[in-house]
Amino acid sequence: MNAENKTDATQARAEIPPEQLSLKSRFKFKCHKGVSCFTECCRGIDIMLTPYDILTMRKKLDIDSEKFLSIFTTPQLLEKADMPVVTLKLLDDERRSCPFVQDKEGCMVYEDRPTTCRYYPLGVGALSYSGEQKDNDQDEFFFMIKEPHCKGFDEPDEWTVGEWREDQGVDLRDEVNEGWLDLMVRKKSLPSSMQLSEQAKQMFFMVCYNIDKFKRFVFESSFLTRYNIPAERVAQIKDDDVKLLQFGFEWLKTTFFHTGEDMFKSKENGGDSTGS
Ligand code: SF4
Ligand code: SF4
Repeated sequence: MNAENKTDATQARAEIPPEQLSLKSRFKFKCHKGVSCFTECCRGIDIMLTPYDILTMRKKLDIDSEKFLSIFTTPQLLEKADMPVVTLKLLDDERRSCPFVQDKEGCMVYEDRPTTCRYYPLGVGALSYSGEQKDNDQDEFFFMIKEPHCKGFDEPDEWTVGEWREDQGVDLRDEVNEGWLDLMVRKKSLPSSMQLSEQAKQMFFMVCYNIDKFKRFVFESSFLTRYNIPAERVAQIKDDDVKLLQFGFEWLKTTFFHTGEDMFKSKENGGDSTGS
């Protein structure tokens, strides 16, 4: 997934060996309904949701993003970046269960389960912003989350980290979420004298986590009249939520960091500013 995909509390609970893994690192693991610990890992956890997770889960549940956020998530602050994130809201039962877990059947949203659940038992970290030329081998690293109750490590199936990512379908998700991670890493790298306003953070929250509200903002406000967005692009984002999300990441990048696409230069300010 991305930086800090489990919160500090969860990381402290897990026994995380200090070693960093690469895409070629090998490990043995398999999770299936026959393991004695089946669904143990879906309780008492903190799972940060990515923008793409919310986009697909709200679709699966056939509710809009606003409703999804209010029913299934808890807003949090990612302290290292001083940016808003959301985590899955657990049930108020004894085991603090995930709302989507069933003892015998497992995950009720399996095909659309969050990126963190897909990566497990791997965690992902990102180092620091190193410029436009991102070198994944250096910026991204993986680590093993070895929780004592997890019997999956006793299974014989062997994977490289790269094979696991592909098998779990995180490649596509990471690609879509790349703009979100880029914003967080850029923000983390800002000097303390250059912080984002509360209004800017609210914009970030809307674009990244409340896609249906962002869509209304784009199409039902003066947004499109303020910028030079090509008609073809407007048509794309109207029909495709993933493209709308990526468009939103680009808009935030230009607005916050003044680097990005010319189409977001404000008409009102003679093309000099982003209109932020
Ligand atoms: S604890 Fe490990 S083996 Fe058990 S259900 Fe979770 S991932 Fe699978
Ligand atoms: S979303 Fe699914 S896989 Fe993830 S914790 Fe909940 S039940 Fe488990």
